Amino acid sequence: MRTEFRNESFVNFKDDRNNAEFDRVLEQTEAGLGKEYPLIIGGERILTEIKAASINPANKAQVVGVVSQADVQYAEQAIQAAAAAFETWKRTDPNERARYLFRAAAVLRRRRHEFSALMTFEAGKTRVEADVETAEAIDFLEFYGREMQRLSQPQPLTVSQEEENELYYLPLGVGVIIPPWNFPLAIMAGMTMAAVVAGNTVVLKPASPTPVIAAKFMALLDEVGLPAGVVNFVPGPGGEVGDYLVDHPLTRFVSFTGSRDVGLRINERAAKTQPGQKWIKRVVAEMGGKDAIIVDQDADLDLAVDAVTLSAFGFSGQKCSACSRVIVHEKVYDTVLERVVERASRLTIGAPSAAGTDVGPVIDEKAYLKIQEYIEIGKQEGRLVLGGGTGDPNGFFIEPTIFADVDPNARISREEIFGPVVAFTKAQSFDEALAFANNTDYGLTGAVISRSGANLEKARREFFVGNLYFNRKCTGALVGTHPFGGFNMSGTDSKAGGRDYLLLFTQAKLVAERF
Ligand code: GLU
Repeated sequence: MRTEFRNESFVNFKDDRNNAEFDRVLEQTEAGLGKEYPLIIGGERILTEIKAASINPANKAQVVGVVSQADVQYAEQAIQAAAAAFETWKRTDPNERARYLFRAAAVLRRRRHEFSALMTFEAGKTRVEADVETAEAIDFLEFYGREMQRLSQPQPLTVSQEEENELYYLPLGVGVIIPPWNFPLAIMAGMTMAAVVAGNTVVLKPASPTPVIAAKFMALLDEVGLPAGVVNFVPGPGGEVGDYLVDHPLTRFVSFTGSRDVGLRINERAAKTQPGQKWIKRVVAEMGGKDAIIVDQDADLDLAVDAVTLSAFGFSGQKCSACSRVIVHEKVYDTVLERVVERASRLTIGAPSAAGTDVGPVIDEKAYLKIQEYIEIGKQEGRLVLGGGTGDPNGFFIEPTIFADVDPNARISREEIFGPVVAFTKAQSFDEALAFANNTDYGLTGAVISRSGANLEKARREFFVGNLYFNRKCTGALVGTHPFGGFNMSGTDSKAGGRDYLLLFTQAKLVAERF
């Protein structure tokens, strides 16, 4: 029997030896950038005519990799390859399926810095954020492997005197996996391998800004012997290839993490039954957030300042869990604002690969321009008290930015910016703070910093989010410890890293036998 699941620990980068080791791997990784990456369909590697360069968002001149692009014909081949592989994979012993995940976790653990280093180049993650992500990827593999073992055991049913009853969790079929760029390893691997361990076969369309890290994970799956056709790899344009995959009559489910607009589009398209389709497609969607931290009048202010700074500016605010609204009781509003501004002004912005960098770039030009537009909107809607500018023009750097005195109905209080921009709002009471926090279409994460048991109880009942945190930051959910997913426009509350997650990729069959 496997040991009980435990979260992987993080590398301590306060220790210089760890930094030196990481620097060594960074150097090797950098020397290996710029290679070509093929599609992988049914185990076959295909270099296509049309290619896209993945670039380093901190240094636009640096090409991380050159990636073959699928079109609808390749998408069709990938679906067919997945459908063919499903016939054997669905019958493969769940323990065998789980073992591929455990092997992949072991390799990832051994070569941890390699994956993290590549993320600093392709996604602009600092080494600390990248390492946390690699740990999360290991966690997903270890956790979902065990979850499948649990689900393949005899399931508890009411005992009948006359019959023998058994319930089995069967896979669904061919899945389309569309992961995000902001957790290009952990969420990509988690979404893919949850579906796979449950017995499905998939077509993986990696996020356009981060295909190389996904390609590296594909190489790892090959290394651990995952059979051909179980995961088919088709980088390509979202509009053309994504739509084709979602619409396909053989697609049984779509697992998506990304923006609200794309999530809703997928949901609508998947709802349309295609000729020859004999099921209702299942959509698992993890979308945006407009997450708030409430700071109560009696809060531990040191803790509040740390929680807000980390949650708002970690990975430049590019997490759907990131804090983008800080709602502060009027009695401590000025102090909290001033102290967060002071704390955030000390964050080091720079190359994510360098030790000691706190804030790297945003992911690409589109994000860079969109965030700047929101900063202009913010200047109309609030008082700019920190940042607002950009950094080294060789990359997509945006300063940590804080707006004060923002109305809860302002656009920057309601719309997801997905960048290092946070809006402060003053509340006259805890009740008002809670009402402001809930004044959103989203419902992903939230935090309350308070010493009042009564107020925490009220928030426990009324703060309408999938992941609610008290006296801590609102980012950094751990697999198994904090199953992650939100309400309303944040998605289908699909709780990644939780005990319900694999059920989303299965269908239960009950067999009753009388003798
Ligand atoms: N699970 C991550 C966290 O808790 C966020 C995931 C996301 O941004 O999609 O910070």
